[in-house]
Amino acid sequence: MARKKIVAGNWKMNMTPAKAVELIATLRPLVDSNDVDVVLCVPAIDIVPAITATRGTNIAIGAENMHYEESGAYTGEIAPNMLVEAGVKYVILGHSERREYFHETDEELNKKVKKAFEHGLTPILCCGETLEQREMGITIDWIRMQIKSDLAGVPASDVAKMVIAYEPIWAIGTGKTATTGQAQQVCKAIRDCIAEIYDEETAENVRIQYGGSVNAGNAKELFAQPDIDGGLVGGASLKPEFGKIVNYK
Ligand code: PEP
Repeated sequence: MARKKIVAGNWKMNMTPAKAVELIATLRPLVDSNDVDVVLCVPAIDIVPAITATRGTNIAIGAENMHYEESGAYTGEIAPNMLVEAGVKYVILGHSERREYFHETDEELNKKVKKAFEHGLTPILCCGETLEQREMGITIDWIRMQIKSDLAGVPASDVAKMVIAYEPIWAIGTGKTATTGQAQQVCKAIRDCIAEIYDEETAENVRIQYGGSVNAGNAKELFAQPDIDGGLVGGASLKPEFGKIVNYK
């Protein structure tokens, strides 16, 4: 069975609630598609208005982060059942900005992935190398280590349903895209790693996105690669251009 493409926007720390509703009104007619799953991952405060603004459309709403505990003394954090009750379907976990600026570890991410599944949320698990790691020739080793740590103890039946986003850190927000060959090579290595840890069927089902300066000009070629099942899109998801990425064909 062919994997359905999935294009997810990551708004990061942009858009007030009012601006979020305005942007969704602009994007709604532009991202209508039967071929692609469309997700907008929005700041926590935008989740409720975004859910209302996308009701009856093909757009699913995602969160940008989540805590692995159910509730408690974690000031400023958001619990999985809060996301579920609001109507959230996806959650980005382990974005490189969270790993770098908020010191998220693979151990914490492993707990978050398990907790997301416990609550029926689909994780979009991010992995990626720095420019230094790429130049040292350790990209694949690094990514395999991230995948193995973040998925330790996660059953195959869950992995088959999740999304993994390969995002070379040097390509995020820089305008510098990985070449199609580089992106395909690492996405294939991720799929091979899943086949190794689990089995061929799980590897065939897991959806792997590329992220890093995806735009209307490069989406078609990137998404045509056999192991790239769509994209995680930052900057361009804040503009009507996002519609062109969804309708990349
Ligand atoms: C991202 O935020 O995950 C991302 C890939 O950003 P950009 O598309 O702006 O590089």
